[in-house]
Amino acid sequence: MRVQARRAVEELRRELGGGRAGGDDDEALMARLCRRIARGLEARLGSGLRRVINATGIFVHTNLGRAPLPRPVVAELVPLLDGYCDLEMDLDSGRRGGRGRGVDNLLTALTGAEAAVVVNNNAAALVLALAAHASGRQVVVSRGELVEIGGSFRIPEILETAGARLVEVGTTNRTRLDDYARAIGEDTALLLKVHPSNYRITGFTEAVDGRDLVALGCEHGVPVLVDEGSGLLTPSDRPQLRDHPSHRELIAAGCDLVCGSGDKLLGGPQAGILVGRRELILRCRKHPLYRVLRPNRFTFAALEGVLRRHLTGDELPLARLWADPAQQRRRLERLAERLAAGCGRGAEVVEANAYLGGGSAPEAPIPGLALALPADDAVLRRLRTGTPAVVGYLREGRLILDLRTVDPADEEALSAAVCAAFEPAATAAGSTP
Ligand SMILES: *Cc1c(COP(=O)(O)O)cnc(C)c1O
Repeated sequence: MRVQARRAVEELRRELGGGRAGGDDDEALMARLCRRIARGLEARLGSGLRRVINATGIFVHTNLGRAPLPRPVVAELVPLLDGYCDLEMDLDSGRRGGRGRGVDNLLTALTGAEAAVVVNNNAAALVLALAAHASGRQVVVSRGELVEIGGSFRIPEILETAGARLVEVGTTNRTRLDDYARAIGEDTALLLKVHPSNYRITGFTEAVDGRDLVALGCEHGVPVLVDEGSGLLTPSDRPQLRDHPSHRELIAAGCDLVCGSGDKLLGGPQAGILVGRRELILRCRKHPLYRVLRPNRFTFAALEGVLRRHLTGDELPLARLWADPAQQRRRLERLAERLAAGCGRGAEVVEANAYLGGGSAPEAPIPGLALALPADDAVLRRLRTGTPAVVGYLREGRLILDLRTVDPADEEALSAAVCAAFEPAATAAGSTP
């Protein structure tokens, strides 16, 4: 701050040279100085987090903060965040209550599990489950599931962090039930199954079905933990998700513990969801690590709002990925009209694939429509650095804007931002010094 102030004073002195300009009184000079100091500070600190319109068609875009919260949920958050809330108080008795009990009730209602616990992210859920149930003991995992999932999440290292000993079974491409059976011994604490997420082994492969693993676990009295990953709580009939077992299905199949992310397909805030048998969840809750990994009220408030919408069947932003083609076309044509009127740009509705992203069904495109207009890297960069920032992508010399990841309320801002990126001179002239 002192550096910026000194620099601003020096600059201003230099500019004024000998005397001050005619109309500048002390007050005006001071205002100029303050503006200059503020600009210097901003340049030094960077602009902070900025709103981005995601026109990539990739729903769980990890670089853009993963799933967006539904607007009605965000509106409900404000009174819970700018004041106090009953996070840990039973208002009826005035005594201490369980943290975020509403969320636990919603999770058990949605998944059919006996109990639930929420932590800061799915990596934390896995570490907590392993630390509470397998510290110093063995956890059996298929070699085909020892994956790394973006951002340095590696299954062997997660196990090590939790103090569990990894027992690898099978091979990279094939693991059979018998491989698990032979690995189970005195010291086996858990059988772990991991959804391979952003990784596929194709061709000559074989993996053990969750149900068979559960039967084996039952036979030996060893609990089965499944890292489902994406937070798909209930079964989906979307073609891209039909083969992805949901928490509800895994619990119904007898899995003892199931964990997933809050900010992928669930569509909520960053969180780790762990559901399963009551006594196993209770043990996680009592473990000292729970105190380290428990979320704050932002998370509980947002998660509760999103889970409520899951329960009532209200539409969530994820559903836009499968919007019917006529509706997609209407939105795109409206955007094309805005661009034509705003800056005379011609745009065309073309076919494009959207993706779930975040490692969920990466190879399964969601066919649909997007808007295309001639552009180059410079336009793409100006879009990213504009206000609001817009992220799209280039395909064969054309900018592709996919509205399936854009809130309809953002369409006007999007068209203005696109026009500004195509005509940087016009907007620069309009900006204030
Ligand atoms: C995304 C993912 C994780 C990591 O979840 P975070 O919420 O980012 O910690 C772990 N396991 C699987 C299978 C995943 O897909």
